[in-house]
Amino acid sequence: MIAINGQRLVSDLKALARFGRVGTGVNRPVFTPDDVASRHWLLERMQDAGLDAVIDGIGNVYGRTPKVSRSVLIGSHTDSVPNGGWLDGALGVLYGLEIARALIEAGDASESGVDVISFADEEGRFLGTVGSRVFCGEVVPADCAGVLSADGTILAEALEQAGFAGRPLARLEPARHQGYFEAHIEQGPRLEAETKRIGVVTAIVGIRRARVVFGGQADHAGTTPMDMRRDAGSALIEFAHDVAARFRNVGSTDTVWNFGSIAFEPGAANVVPSGAELMIEFRDSSLGVLDRLEQAIAAAAETVNEADKVSCRVEPVMALEPTAMDEALGTVIEEAAEMCQAPAIWMPSGAGHDAMVLGRHLPTAMLFIPSIGGRSHDIAEDTDEADIVLGAEVLAEAVARFLA
Ligand SMILES: [Zn+2]
Repeated sequence: MIAINGQRLVSDLKALARFGRVGTGVNRPVFTPDDVASRHWLLERMQDAGLDAVIDGIGNVYGRTPKVSRSVLIGSHTDSVPNGGWLDGALGVLYGLEIARALIEAGDASESGVDVISFADEEGRFLGTVGSRVFCGEVVPADCAGVLSADGTILAEALEQAGFAGRPLARLEPARHQGYFEAHIEQGPRLEAETKRIGVVTAIVGIRRARVVFGGQADHAGTTPMDMRRDAGSALIEFAHDVAARFRNVGSTDTVWNFGSIAFEPGAANVVPSGAELMIEFRDSSLGVLDRLEQAIAAAAETVNEADKVSCRVEPVMALEPTAMDEALGTVIEEAAEMCQAPAIWMPSGAGHDAMVLGRHLPTAMLFIPSIGGRSHDIAEDTDEADIVLGAEVLAEAVARFLA
Protein backbone atom coordinates (compact mmCIF):
# COMPACT_ATOMS: atom_id res chain seq x y z
CA MET A 1 0.00 0.00 0.00
CA ILE A 2 1.18 3.54 -0.74
CA ALA A 3 -0.48 6.08 1.59
CA ILE A 4 -1.06 9.21 -0.47
CA ASN A 5 -2.06 12.57 1.01
CA GLY A 6 -5.27 13.57 -0.78
CA GLN A 7 -5.34 17.07 0.67
CA ARG A 8 -1.79 17.80 -0.44
CA LEU A 9 -2.62 16.48 -3.92
CA VAL A 10 -5.66 18.78 -4.25
CA SER A 11 -3.74 21.79 -2.97
CA ASP A 12 -0.95 21.10 -5.51
CA LEU A 13 -3.57 20.89 -8.29
CA LYS A 14 -4.99 24.25 -7.17
CA ALA A 15 -1.51 25.78 -6.97
CA LEU A 16 -0.74 24.62 -10.52
CA ALA A 17 -4.09 26.03 -11.71
CA ARG A 18 -2.92 29.53 -10.71
CA PHE A 19 -0.56 29.55 -13.70
CA GLY A 20 -2.52 31.04 -16.58
CA ARG A 21 -5.77 31.11 -14.63
CA VAL A 22 -8.85 32.15 -16.65
CA GLY A 23 -11.97 32.06 -14.50
CA THR A 24 -12.32 28.44 -13.36
CA GLY A 25 -9.91 27.19 -16.05
CA VAL A 26 -6.40 27.79 -17.36
CA ASN A 27 -4.87 29.21 -20.53
CA ARG A 28 -1.52 27.45 -20.72
CA PRO A 29 -0.54 26.47 -24.26
CA VAL A 30 2.98 25.06 -24.25
CA PHE A 31 5.93 27.52 -23.96
CA THR A 32 3.74 30.55 -23.26
CA PRO A 33 5.15 32.46 -20.24
CA ASP A 34 2.53 30.88 -17.92
CA ASP A 35 3.37 27.39 -19.15
CA VAL A 36 7.12 27.96 -18.72
CA ALA A 37 6.56 29.32 -15.19
CA SER A 38 4.40 26.27 -14.35
CA ARG A 39 7.20 23.94 -15.55
CA HIS A 40 9.66 25.61 -13.16
CA TRP A 41 7.09 25.30 -10.36
CA LEU A 42 6.65 21.59 -11.11
CA LEU A 43 10.44 21.09 -11.22
CA GLU A 44 10.70 22.56 -7.70
CA ARG A 45 7.82 20.40 -6.42
CA MET A 46 9.60 17.31 -7.79
CA GLN A 47 12.89 18.34 -6.18
CA ASP A 48 11.11 19.03 -2.85
CA ALA A 49 9.66 15.52 -3.07
CA GLY A 50 13.18 14.09 -3.29
CA LEU A 51 13.19 13.28 -7.00
CA ASP A 52 16.17 13.93 -9.30
CA ALA A 53 14.38 16.37 -11.58
CA VAL A 54 15.19 18.21 -14.80
CA ILE A 55 13.49 20.14 -17.57
CA ASP A 56 14.89 18.67 -20.77
CA GLY A 57 15.59 19.90 -24.30
CA ILE A 58 11.96 19.62 -25.48
CA GLY A 59 10.51 21.04 -22.26
CA ASN A 60 9.54 17.73 -20.62
CA VAL A 61 9.67 18.00 -16.82
CA TYR A 62 11.04 14.69 -15.56
CA GLY A 63 11.68 13.50 -12.01
CA ARG A 64 13.40 10.21 -11.18
CA THR A 65 13.38 8.37 -7.90
CA PRO A 66 17.05 8.20 -6.88
CA LYS A 67 18.93 4.99 -6.11
CA VAL A 68 16.52 2.60 -7.81
CA SER A 69 17.26 0.48 -10.87
CA ARG A 70 13.66 -0.12 -11.96
CA SER A 71 10.64 2.15 -11.95
CA VAL A 72 7.06 2.70 -12.96
CA LEU A 73 6.65 5.85 -15.04
CA ILE A 74 3.59 7.99 -14.23
CA GLY A 75 2.75 11.07 -16.23
CA SER A 76 0.65 13.12 -18.60
CA HIS A 77 0.88 16.79 -19.61
CA THR A 78 0.51 20.19 -17.93
CA ASP A 79 0.05 22.29 -21.08
CA SER A 80 -3.55 23.18 -21.95
CA VAL A 81 -5.62 24.09 -24.98
CA PRO A 82 -6.41 27.82 -25.18
CA ASN A 83 -8.82 28.56 -22.31
CA GLY A 84 -8.88 24.94 -21.23
CA GLY A 85 -9.70 23.14 -17.98
CA TRP A 86 -7.63 23.02 -14.80
CA LEU A 87 -7.48 19.21 -14.58
CA ASP A 88 -7.02 17.74 -18.07
CA GLY A 89 -3.41 16.44 -18.08
CA ALA A 90 -2.34 18.21 -14.89
CA LEU A 91 -4.22 15.57 -12.90
CA GLY A 92 -2.12 12.65 -14.17
CA VAL A 93 1.17 14.49 -13.60
CA LEU A 94 0.32 15.47 -10.02
CA TYR A 95 -0.96 11.95 -9.27
CA GLY A 96 2.54 10.79 -10.24
CA LEU A 97 4.16 13.44 -8.05
CA GLU A 98 2.02 12.54 -5.03
CA ILE A 99 2.59 8.80 -5.40
CA ALA A 100 6.37 9.19 -5.86
CA ARG A 101 6.49 11.57 -2.88
CA ALA A 102 4.46 9.24 -0.67
CA LEU A 103 6.71 6.31 -1.58
CA ILE A 104 9.90 8.27 -0.82
CA GLU A 105 8.42 9.54 2.48
CA ALA A 106 7.57 6.00 3.51
CA GLY A 107 11.31 5.30 3.30
CA ASP A 108 10.79 2.56 0.78
CA ALA A 109 14.19 0.90 0.36
CA SER A 110 13.33 -1.46 -2.49
CA GLU A 111 15.03 -1.56 -5.87
CA SER A 112 12.04 -0.05 -7.65
CA GLY A 113 10.35 3.32 -7.46
CA VAL A 114 8.24 5.83 -9.35
CA ASP A 115 9.41 8.28 -12.03
CA VAL A 116 7.19 11.22 -12.95
CA ILE A 117 6.91 13.16 -16.19
CA SER A 118 5.02 16.08 -17.70
CA PHE A 119 5.27 15.76 -21.47
CA ALA A 120 5.50 18.97 -23.51
CA ASP A 121 2.86 20.02 -26.05
CA GLU A 122 0.42 17.13 -25.78
CA GLU A 123 -2.25 19.55 -26.96
CA GLY A 124 -0.40 20.40 -30.16
CA ARG A 125 0.21 24.14 -30.09
CA PHE A 126 3.13 23.12 -32.34
CA LEU A 127 3.03 19.34 -32.73
CA GLY A 128 0.70 17.16 -30.64
CA THR A 129 2.46 14.73 -28.23
CA VAL A 130 5.90 15.95 -29.36
CA GLY A 131 7.21 15.64 -25.77
CA SER A 132 6.33 11.97 -25.47
CA ARG A 133 7.54 11.24 -28.99
CA VAL A 134 10.94 12.76 -28.21
CA PHE A 135 11.05 10.86 -24.89
CA CYS A 136 10.39 7.60 -26.75
CA GLY A 137 13.00 8.38 -29.42
CA GLU A 138 10.51 8.63 -32.29
CA VAL A 139 11.70 12.14 -33.20
CA VAL A 140 14.43 14.56 -32.10
CA PRO A 141 13.82 18.29 -31.58
CA ALA A 142 15.84 19.11 -34.71
CA ASP A 143 13.26 17.18 -36.82
CA CYS A 144 10.52 19.59 -35.80
CA ALA A 145 12.47 22.80 -35.15
CA GLY A 146 10.66 24.65 -37.93
CA VAL A 147 7.10 23.73 -36.94
CA LEU A 148 4.88 26.80 -36.70
CA SER A 149 2.08 27.40 -34.21
CA ALA A 150 -1.21 28.94 -35.37
CA ASP A 151 0.03 32.27 -34.00
CA GLY A 152 3.15 32.09 -36.22
CA THR A 153 5.70 31.14 -33.56
CA ILE A 154 8.51 28.77 -34.57
CA LEU A 155 9.01 25.80 -32.21
CA ALA A 156 12.81 26.23 -32.11
CA GLU A 157 12.43 29.89 -31.13
CA ALA A 158 9.84 29.11 -28.47
CA LEU A 159 12.22 26.52 -26.95
CA GLU A 160 15.08 29.04 -27.10
CA GLN A 161 13.00 31.73 -25.43
CA ALA A 162 11.86 29.31 -22.73
CA GLY A 163 15.52 28.53 -22.04
CA PHE A 164 15.16 24.82 -22.82
CA ALA A 165 16.85 24.64 -26.27
CA GLY A 166 19.94 22.46 -26.47
CA ARG A 167 19.46 20.83 -23.08
CA PRO A 168 20.00 17.06 -22.79
CA LEU A 169 16.93 14.96 -23.58
CA ALA A 170 15.21 12.73 -21.03
CA ARG A 171 14.76 9.31 -22.61
CA LEU A 172 12.82 6.16 -22.03
CA GLU A 173 15.07 3.45 -20.53
CA PRO A 174 13.75 0.00 -21.38
CA ALA A 175 15.75 -1.65 -18.58
CA ARG A 176 14.47 0.82 -15.99
CA HIS A 177 10.90 1.63 -17.02
CA GLN A 178 8.68 -1.39 -16.38
CA GLY A 179 5.42 0.25 -17.35
CA TYR A 180 3.62 3.56 -17.90
CA PHE A 181 0.48 4.67 -16.07
CA GLU A 182 -1.48 7.73 -17.17
CA ALA A 183 -4.48 8.96 -15.21
CA HIS A 184 -6.77 11.46 -16.87
CA ILE A 185 -10.21 12.95 -16.53
CA GLU A 186 -12.61 11.13 -18.86
CA GLN A 187 -13.47 14.27 -20.89
CA GLY A 188 -16.82 12.68 -21.69
CA PRO A 189 -20.08 11.76 -19.91
CA ARG A 190 -19.97 7.95 -19.71
CA LEU A 191 -18.68 7.37 -16.16
CA GLU A 192 -21.12 9.93 -14.80
CA ALA A 193 -24.02 8.39 -16.74
CA GLU A 194 -23.18 4.91 -15.41
CA THR A 195 -22.50 6.27 -11.87
CA LYS A 196 -19.03 4.73 -11.94
CA ARG A 197 -16.01 6.51 -10.52
CA ILE A 198 -13.12 4.68 -12.20
CA GLY A 199 -12.64 3.76 -15.86
CA VAL A 200 -9.92 1.46 -17.19
CA VAL A 201 -9.04 2.22 -20.79
CA THR A 202 -9.16 -0.67 -23.25
CA ALA A 203 -7.64 1.26 -26.15
CA ILE A 204 -7.20 4.73 -27.51
CA VAL A 205 -9.41 4.86 -30.55
CA GLY A 206 -8.19 5.16 -34.11
CA ILE A 207 -9.45 8.07 -36.18
CA ARG A 208 -10.12 8.23 -39.90
CA ARG A 209 -11.34 11.19 -41.93
CA ALA A 210 -12.60 11.33 -45.47
CA ARG A 211 -13.64 14.13 -47.78
CA VAL A 212 -16.54 13.16 -50.06
CA VAL A 213 -16.92 15.25 -53.20
CA PHE A 214 -20.15 15.33 -55.23
CA GLY A 215 -20.40 16.65 -58.79
CA GLY A 216 -23.74 17.68 -60.36
CA GLN A 217 -25.03 20.47 -62.55
CA ALA A 218 -26.18 24.00 -61.70
CA ASP A 219 -29.72 24.69 -62.94
CA HIS A 220 -32.56 27.09 -62.23
CA ALA A 221 -34.19 25.86 -59.01
CA GLY A 222 -37.63 27.04 -60.23
CA THR A 223 -37.76 25.81 -63.80
CA THR A 224 -35.98 22.44 -63.66
CA PRO A 225 -38.33 19.50 -62.82
CA MET A 226 -37.16 17.45 -59.84
CA ASP A 227 -36.54 14.26 -61.82
CA MET A 228 -34.37 16.12 -64.34
CA ARG A 229 -31.96 17.61 -61.83
CA ARG A 230 -28.38 16.57 -61.15
CA ASP A 231 -28.51 17.91 -57.63
CA ALA A 232 -25.19 17.47 -55.79
CA GLY A 233 -26.63 18.92 -52.57
CA SER A 234 -29.55 16.50 -52.26
CA ALA A 235 -27.22 13.63 -53.18
CA LEU A 236 -24.97 14.62 -50.28
CA ILE A 237 -27.84 14.71 -47.80
CA GLU A 238 -29.15 11.29 -48.88
CA PHE A 239 -25.61 9.92 -48.85
CA ALA A 240 -25.07 11.09 -45.25
CA HIS A 241 -28.28 9.35 -44.11
CA ASP A 242 -27.25 6.21 -45.97
CA VAL A 243 -23.77 6.23 -44.36
CA ALA A 244 -25.25 6.70 -40.86
CA ALA A 245 -27.58 3.73 -41.41
CA ARG A 246 -24.71 1.56 -42.68
CA PHE A 247 -22.50 2.65 -39.75
CA ARG A 248 -25.21 1.56 -37.29
CA ASN A 249 -25.14 -1.86 -38.94
CA VAL A 250 -21.40 -2.48 -39.17
CA GLY A 251 -20.02 -0.34 -36.32
CA SER A 252 -19.37 -1.47 -32.74
CA THR A 253 -21.28 -0.13 -29.73
CA ASP A 254 -18.37 2.29 -29.22
CA THR A 255 -18.19 3.56 -32.81
CA VAL A 256 -18.69 7.31 -33.14
CA TRP A 257 -18.88 9.42 -36.27
CA ASN A 258 -19.28 13.04 -37.17
CA PHE A 259 -20.44 14.81 -40.32
CA GLY A 260 -18.42 17.82 -39.28
CA SER A 261 -18.65 20.11 -42.28
CA ILE A 262 -20.59 20.45 -45.52
CA ALA A 263 -20.36 22.98 -48.34
CA PHE A 264 -22.54 23.49 -51.42
CA GLU A 265 -21.61 25.18 -54.70
CA PRO A 266 -22.61 27.79 -55.64
CA GLY A 267 -24.60 27.87 -52.39
CA ALA A 268 -27.65 29.92 -53.36
CA ALA A 269 -31.33 29.32 -52.57
CA ASN A 270 -32.40 29.53 -56.22
CA VAL A 271 -29.63 27.44 -57.82
CA VAL A 272 -29.53 23.64 -57.89
CA PRO A 273 -26.14 22.80 -56.31
CA SER A 274 -23.53 21.87 -58.92
CA GLY A 275 -21.06 20.65 -56.32
CA ALA A 276 -21.04 19.57 -52.69
CA GLU A 277 -18.43 18.48 -50.21
CA LEU A 278 -18.77 16.58 -46.93
CA MET A 279 -16.20 15.82 -44.23
CA ILE A 280 -16.75 12.58 -42.31
CA GLU A 281 -14.75 11.57 -39.27
CA PHE A 282 -15.18 8.21 -37.55
CA ARG A 283 -13.50 6.58 -34.57
CA ASP A 284 -13.28 3.11 -33.12
CA SER A 285 -10.76 1.11 -31.11
CA SER A 286 -10.74 -1.83 -33.57
CA LEU A 287 -8.85 -1.78 -36.84
CA GLY A 288 -11.34 -4.30 -38.28
CA VAL A 289 -14.29 -2.05 -37.43
CA LEU A 290 -12.53 0.99 -38.92
CA ASP A 291 -12.04 -0.99 -42.14
CA ARG A 292 -15.73 -1.98 -42.20
CA LEU A 293 -16.78 1.65 -41.71
CA GLU A 294 -14.52 2.70 -44.57
CA GLN A 295 -16.06 0.01 -46.78
CA ALA A 296 -19.53 1.26 -45.82
CA ILE A 297 -18.62 4.74 -47.07
CA ALA A 298 -17.31 3.25 -50.33
CA ALA A 299 -20.55 1.26 -50.79
CA ALA A 300 -22.70 4.34 -50.19
CA ALA A 301 -20.61 6.26 -52.75
CA GLU A 302 -21.10 3.41 -55.22
CA THR A 303 -24.88 3.72 -54.80
CA VAL A 304 -24.70 7.43 -55.70
CA ASN A 305 -22.55 6.73 -58.77
CA GLU A 306 -24.82 3.88 -59.95
CA ALA A 307 -27.82 6.23 -60.04
CA ASP A 308 -25.82 8.06 -62.74
CA LYS A 309 -26.96 11.59 -61.97
CA VAL A 310 -24.36 12.88 -59.58
CA SER A 311 -20.74 11.76 -59.27
CA CYS A 312 -19.34 10.86 -55.88
CA ARG A 313 -15.66 10.55 -55.00
CA VAL A 314 -14.24 9.59 -51.58
CA GLU A 315 -10.82 10.96 -50.62
CA PRO A 316 -9.20 9.65 -47.41
CA VAL A 317 -7.75 12.62 -45.54
CA MET A 318 -6.29 11.17 -42.37
CA ALA A 319 -5.85 7.85 -40.60
CA LEU A 320 -4.60 7.37 -37.05
CA GLU A 321 -4.30 3.76 -35.89
CA PRO A 322 -5.92 2.68 -32.61
CA THR A 323 -3.53 1.92 -29.72
CA ALA A 324 -4.46 -0.99 -27.48
CA MET A 325 -3.58 -0.55 -23.81
CA ASP A 326 -1.83 -3.36 -21.93
CA GLU A 327 -4.53 -5.70 -20.61
CA ALA A 328 -2.45 -7.07 -17.73
CA LEU A 329 -1.59 -3.56 -16.54
CA GLY A 330 -5.23 -2.49 -16.93
CA THR A 331 -6.29 -5.47 -14.84
CA VAL A 332 -3.97 -4.23 -12.08
CA ILE A 333 -5.95 -0.95 -12.07
CA GLU A 334 -9.24 -2.87 -12.11
CA GLU A 335 -8.16 -4.92 -9.07
CA ALA A 336 -6.93 -1.79 -7.29
CA ALA A 337 -10.30 -0.11 -7.91
CA GLU A 338 -12.09 -3.16 -6.51
CA MET A 339 -9.85 -2.98 -3.46
CA CYS A 340 -10.83 0.71 -3.01
CA GLN A 341 -14.54 -0.23 -3.20
CA ALA A 342 -14.97 1.57 -6.52
CA PRO A 343 -15.66 -1.09 -9.17
CA ALA A 344 -14.30 0.07 -12.50
CA ILE A 345 -15.68 -0.19 -16.02
CA TRP A 346 -13.56 -0.81 -19.10
CA MET A 347 -13.99 1.77 -21.83
CA PRO A 348 -12.17 3.11 -24.88
CA SER A 349 -10.65 6.58 -24.90
CA GLY A 350 -12.19 8.67 -27.65
CA ALA A 351 -9.49 11.31 -27.21
CA GLY A 352 -5.77 11.07 -27.90
CA HIS A 353 -3.22 11.00 -25.05
CA ASP A 354 0.52 10.66 -24.47
CA ALA A 355 -0.29 7.02 -23.56
CA MET A 356 -0.89 6.50 -27.29
CA VAL A 357 2.83 7.14 -27.89
CA LEU A 358 4.14 5.36 -24.78
CA GLY A 359 1.93 2.35 -25.60
CA ARG A 360 4.07 1.71 -28.68
CA HIS A 361 7.16 1.22 -26.49
CA LEU A 362 6.26 -0.28 -23.11
CA PRO A 363 3.29 -1.78 -21.23
CA THR A 364 0.88 1.13 -20.81
CA ALA A 365 -2.42 1.59 -18.97
CA MET A 366 -4.83 4.49 -18.44
CA LEU A 367 -7.21 5.26 -15.61
CA PHE A 368 -10.15 7.66 -16.03
CA ILE A 369 -12.08 9.57 -13.39
CA PRO A 370 -15.44 11.26 -14.13
CA SER A 371 -15.81 14.69 -15.71
CA ILE A 372 -18.77 16.65 -14.35
CA GLY A 373 -21.29 16.94 -17.18
CA GLY A 374 -18.69 15.38 -19.49
CA ARG A 375 -17.20 18.84 -20.01
CA SER A 376 -13.57 19.27 -21.07
CA HIS A 377 -11.30 21.50 -23.17
CA ASP A 378 -13.23 24.37 -21.63
CA ILE A 379 -12.94 26.36 -18.42
CA ALA A 380 -16.15 24.63 -17.26
CA GLU A 381 -14.20 21.37 -16.88
CA ASP A 382 -14.32 19.99 -13.32
CA THR A 383 -14.37 16.82 -11.21
CA ASP A 384 -15.60 16.18 -7.65
CA GLU A 385 -12.76 16.48 -5.16
CA ALA A 386 -13.69 13.06 -3.72
CA ASP A 387 -13.28 11.52 -7.19
CA ILE A 388 -9.92 13.26 -7.65
CA VAL A 389 -8.64 11.77 -4.39
CA LEU A 390 -10.17 8.33 -5.06
CA GLY A 391 -8.47 8.18 -8.46
CA ALA A 392 -5.09 8.84 -6.85
CA GLU A 393 -5.72 6.17 -4.22
CA VAL A 394 -6.63 3.63 -6.89
CA LEU A 395 -3.55 4.50 -8.96
CA ALA A 396 -1.32 4.32 -5.86
CA GLU A 397 -2.73 0.89 -5.06
CA ALA A 398 -2.19 -0.22 -8.66
CA VAL A 399 1.41 1.01 -8.59
CA ALA A 400 2.06 -0.78 -5.28
CA ARG A 401 0.65 -4.02 -6.73
CA PHE A 402 2.66 -3.64 -9.91
CA LEU A 403 5.93 -2.94 -8.09
CA ALA A 404 5.30 -5.91 -5.79
ZN1 LIG B 1 -5.10 15.78 -21.79
